[in-house]
Formats: sequence, C-alpha cells, structure tokens
Amino acid sequence: MKTLRCPKCDTRIPFDPSRYEPGSSLVFECPECRKQFKIRLPARRDAPEEEEQRPVATLLVVENAFHEKQVIPLHPGQNVLGREVRGTSINRPIKTVDPSMDTLHCRILVDTDRQGNPRFTLSDGPSGTGTFVGTEILGDRERRRISDGTVITLGATTLILRVGEGE
Ligand SMILES: [Zn+2]
Repeated sequence: MKTLRCPKCDTRIPFDPSRYEPGSSLVFECPECRKQFKIRLPARRDAPEEEEQRPVATLLVVENAFHEKQVIPLHPGQNVLGREVRGTSINRPIKTVDPSMDTLHCRILVDTDRQGNPRFTLSDGPSGTGTFVGTEILGDRERRRISDGTVITLGATTLILRVGEGE
C-alpha cells in the first residue's frame, strides 16, 4: 500500500497500485477538499527487466583478430545473434568487426522440455556464410538442438554454449 498526497491540501490518501493496470491514468478525488487530480502509474509494476534476470545460459565468444572475448547471456525465448551495428534491432548483438558475421546471423530459441529442463534450438539467419555446429553447416530450415559445450561458428567467430553455473 502506498499513499498519495492531495496537491491542494496535502492530505494523505491511501492507494494500492497493485489493483490497477501498469501504465494506466487514474483520477482521484481528495476526501478532504474534493480536489480531483490525475496520476499515471509506471508502465511496469514489479517485473524486473529481462536483462537483470539470471540468464539460463551464456555464449562465450572466443577472442580472435576481430574482437575480444565476450559473454552473451541467453534468456527464455528467441535470442537473435549477429554483428552489432548502430541501431540494430536484434537482442543479442556481438561486438565484432568480423565482416563475415551478418548483422542477423542466427537464432537460439530457449525453452524447456517436459521435465522443465532448459532446451536450446539453433537455426540459421539465413546468413551469408552459414551457421556451423562443429564442422557441419546447418540447412536453411534446420533446427538443431544444442547443449552445454556445443561449439558454434559464425563467419570467423567461434562461440561456445555454456549452460548453468560458471564460465
Ligand atoms: Zn485535498
């Protein structure tokens, strides 16, 4: 429970924001002076931003001539990977100057199996140079299940899937 203050007479008015939709505009009437005033609730209530939640897994981007080592968090849902460019709309950009990595190169879908264990499904962008698992190139419409330790190659860049604790 929170309290609002009447903008006219400063009376405290109890207020429970959880009863209302986030982002909605509400009109209150002061019980003391009858002043009506509007407030707008924040767009989100308690839900933390996705990026603040612990990732299900990470991708280690192995250092090479084009970039330093990076760790890319993977979250439930579609993780879209590619070379970071200004104004990119993908959600897992990789900082690299590797010209053979597309700005949208591949996707990793994170969901769970029937036992509730995390599941990772890799598919190609489609990209210009292809997405490799080990030494095998993925087919255009292929969905490849990957797991802890899987080595993925995008252009000249090597990524290693890390599931669970640690690096
Ligand atoms: Zn008032």
